Parts: sequence; structure tokens; C-alpha cells
Amino acid sequence: TEFTSPPLDPLLVENIKQARFTKPTPVQKYSIPIVANGRDLMACAQTGSGKTGGFLFPVLSESFKHGPTESSQTDNAFDRRKAHPTALVLAPTRELVSQIYEEARKFSYRSWVRPVVVYGGAEVYLQMDQLKQGCDLLVATPGRLNDLLERGKISLKNIKYLVLDEADRMLDMGFEIQIRHIIQGCDMPPPGERQTLMFSATFPKEIQLMAKDFLHNYIFLSV
Ligand code: AMP
Repeated sequence: TEFTSPPLDPLLVENIKQARFTKPTPVQKYSIPIVANGRDLMACAQTGSGKTGGFLFPVLSESFKHGPTESSQTDNAFDRRKAHPTALVLAPTRELVSQIYEEARKFSYRSWVRPVVVYGGAEVYLQMDQLKQGCDLLVATPGRLNDLLERGKISLKNIKYLVLDEADRMLDMGFEIQIRHIIQGCDMPPPGERQTLMFSATFPKEIQLMAKDFLHNYIFLSV
């Protein structure tokens, strides 16, 4: 495949091959090296551009290398009753988080990474059950994530990757306060101590302000 520069984890390359993706789309071609180099990213890309792979591939590739976090051994304050994901993807709708989750499952197949999806309008106890079984990559709508944070079912202190997908749609749907609470009002590491990737079809003033608040020294990509 052409998914070889920069080199992705061999298991991921195998899973990409199984999905019959033969070559990266433009957004994937540019975003993968940027994320692999540890940089924050603000990408303007439409639905259908392959942006899901653009963030999932570099995040999964890096995660595969590291293995599960050692928090349980090294940190006395570690709370086993909570899920401690290392990657969080926020998206506006149930349909979108479900699609992202399905891709995450497909591409993390046979790895140690366990994706979980949570969204509103569905039974919260079933989602709490899923979280209890372990969660490395969480895909969430903002409202339900806040609900689960308030219930003490999730800690964001181990987050290494934060992805905001369809950021402009999340603002249109009135999620800004919810998003700010998740990112700035909980225990998530600050910009610079995590990697943040924002995807948006448009780049109006409000998105520029969010990029300024959430990203650290970011690269701007428009495809
Ligand atoms: P997305 O914009 O991420 O929602 O992707 C749009 C569609 O393109 C989805 O059905 C993906 O499975 C598919 N897709 C994404 N990347 C590739 C690729 N590199 N090769 C072939 N299909 C792809």
C-alpha cells in the first residue's frame, strides 16, 4: 500500500489493507505525517474526504506502539471505577459518532486498543457497562460525555489525543459551552501536554477562536 510514509504500525497497515483502502486520500496524505510528528492540527475538510482515517490512522498507529497505560501501577490516585481513555473524539451527532466508532473498531482489530462510543438518546447504563469493561479510545457526543463525567464514570486525565470532528456543526448545534466544559472544566491535560486535532468544513471567526484556545502551535491544513 501507499500507507507507508511515514511508516504506520504493521498491524494497522494490515487492517487498512483488509478495508481495501489502497492509497491515502489528500487529507490523509497530509494529516498523517503532521500528527505523527506530534503537531496540533486545524484541518478544513468536507465529509467524504476521508478525514476519519486522517485522524484515526496516526492516533491508532502511535497507540499500538505504546500499549496500555501503566497508571494502575504507578499512580496511587488512579481510580479503577472510572474509564481512563487516552484518546477522545468529539462529534456532533449519534450517526457521526457511530460511524467513527465502526471505523475505529475496524482499524483497531487485533490490537490492545478498545474503542467505546457514547451518545445521547440511548440507555446510559448500557454505555456505563461498556466503559467499565475498559476504554482506550472514546467517541462521544458532548452532552452524553458531560453526563458521564458528572456521574464520575470517566476521567480525562490520561488524554493524549483530543479530536474535534465537524467542529463547525458542533457550534451550530449549540455545543460550545459543553465542549468548553469537557476540555477546560475537567481533568484533561492542557494544550501542549496533549495533541489536539480539529476538523471543520468551514473556518469562521468562532472556529478560529476555538482553535486559538484549544490548540498549541498548530498547523493549518486546507484540502
Ligand atoms: P470520511 O470522510 O472519513 O467519512 O470517509 C468517506 C468514505 O471514504 C468512507 O466510506 C471511508 O470508508 C472511505 N475512505 C476513506 N479513506 C479511504 C481511502 N484511503 N481509500 C478508500 N476509501 C476511503
